[in-house]
Amino acid sequence: MKPFTLLTPATVEEAVALFGQHKETARYMAGGTDVIVKVKEGWMGPDYLINLKKIPGLNDLHKNEATGELSIGALVTHAMLEQSLLIRNAYPIIYDAVSNIGSLQVRNMGTIGGNLINAVPSADGAIPLIALDGTALLVGPDGERSVMVKDLFVKPYETVLTPGEILTRITIPAQVPRTGSAYIKFGRRAAMELPLIGIGVLLVVDEDLSTCTRARICLGVAGPTPLRAVKAEQMLEGQPVTSDLLTGAGKLAAEESQVRDSVRGQAWHRKEMIRVQVRRMGLRCLDIINQKARQA
Ligand SMILES: Cc1cc2nc3c(=O)[nH]c(=O)nc-3n(C[C@H](O)[C@H](O)[C@H](O)COP(=O)(O)OP(=O)(O)OC[C@H]3O[C@@H](n4cnc5c(N)ncnc54)[C@H](O)[C@@H]3O)c2cc1C
Repeated sequence: MKPFTLLTPATVEEAVALFGQHKETARYMAGGTDVIVKVKEGWMGPDYLINLKKIPGLNDLHKNEATGELSIGALVTHAMLEQSLLIRNAYPIIYDAVSNIGSLQVRNMGTIGGNLINAVPSADGAIPLIALDGTALLVGPDGERSVMVKDLFVKPYETVLTPGEILTRITIPAQVPRTGSAYIKFGRRAAMELPLIGIGVLLVVDEDLSTCTRARICLGVAGPTPLRAVKAEQMLEGQPVTSDLLTGAGKLAAEESQVRDSVRGQAWHRKEMIRVQVRRMGLRCLDIINQKARQA
């Protein structure tokens, strides 16, 4: 492994300044579950690793009770999300996604920010944050800016971040009543497996508990970046959600996907999984909504 110097800034500003000093010879590191593997394997050889883990506040997870907005610090680990009762009860799509990432060790170290910025099409953490209309806050040499999570990705391993920018947190707007959400990672094994396909569905229904007012169908490993099946979403919006309608949306989402053959699976299989699982996840969303309505 090529030796490197570990720098440990105390603030975001200090981290950005260190990057400015060392430029392309430096790399940010959060949990290190991607970076360290790449350095060890020789795919990456930075002279400096800028460790973000000691910066206070970046691992803060809280809901603003006044606005209902959820704030997830970029250094919040998958394990923190998995163990949060707030996430488990109010954001099941996040819980479903992070609780199946890697192993316990990977979830203890790996962060949601690293998962997004690593920008692989199979990033489990990206799908729920896109479905929930999340926004990423970026801080860099030119100041602060916000980007919708759905617009972060350019191609595999590339995001819209400019050199030196740091993802500091993701915000999720307040959830409207009668929202249900679910994610399934479909792979060949139950653990330590990147998904063959990842499917997240979020539905909001009207007071009649049937008419869909908002639909999000988000797919991982279905193209070069995580993507939304927008035509399938439009098929659901404004309609009473039935099993047949969800079957139609599943078919359309499979057509909209850009799946391909890879070492982990074939395109026809991925399409079949999208077709079947969009309906199943949609039905699970309705179950969640109905269960909450009965408890209210
Ligand atoms: C055995 C194993 C199993 C895995 N299983 C899964 C899985 O099932 N699903 C899945 O989605 N992933 C999986 N991963 C990948 C990885 O664990 C996750 O993507 C993890 O969330 C990465 O987070 P990290 O904090 O470790 O990132 P790091 O390795 O620290 O960084 C990843 C990249 O993001 C950049 N970066 C990190 N944080 C920031 C920030 N705040 N601002 C700007 N840039 C930043 C780094 O420079 C680097 O380019 C697995 C990895 C391993 C080793």
